[in-house]
Amino acid sequence: MLSFLESYIEEAYIPDKRLWSKIVSQSITIFEENRWILSVQRRPELNRYFKIHSCLTDHRLVRLSATDPFFTRGLLLLIRLGSVAIKSGQCTLCNHYTDDIVKHLILNCEHVVDIRNEMFYAVVNLISVQDSVKLFQQDEDDMLVTLLGGVNDYVKQLNSDVWKQLMLCLTGHMLKLYNHSKSVLFYHNFNFGH
Ligand SMILES: [Zn+2]
Repeated sequence: MLSFLESYIEEAYIPDKRLWSKIVSQSITIFEENRWILSVQRRPELNRYFKIHSCLTDHRLVRLSATDPFFTRGLLLLIRLGSVAIKSGQCTLCNHYTDDIVKHLILNCEHVVDIRNEMFYAVVNLISVQDSVKLFQQDEDDMLVTLLGGVNDYVKQLNSDVWKQLMLCLTGHMLKLYNHSKSVLFYHNFNFGH
């Protein structure tokens, strides 16, 4: 902002009111975005959240729910699961200690293995063999980012319609998984609006 003002003063140039308003508004947006990025990056527990939602715009799953309102509840769940802090603790369903409770419930907990398998079978049935292989070749962190609606290298190479179908397919399965494991999130005081 100051650099604009200085150059205007130096050149005795007064910008048109609308142009000035646009410059101010864009500068504020950039300032807010940088401040937001810095505050999130300083908190390692928000590492996954930042990977999923790396800029200050509408979450892409919110945009998806606008076109497919039937899936809103499930899409909001994916957003919540992807936004909560990474916390360590003991799983009250299988008693395993984990450094990442959300990751444990979605990818590892034995208590919900049937629901997880059902979800992955549905995904494999939905997308091509090549896309399935690449999906499961990712490490657990990237896999989770993919399942919770983030855009990583895997998602970038997916056809956008395939990505949309994948997200919509995951909603029902994630709701089921959540319903069977939310007591763990509650126990560990996740702000989840149980
Ligand atoms: Zn468990």
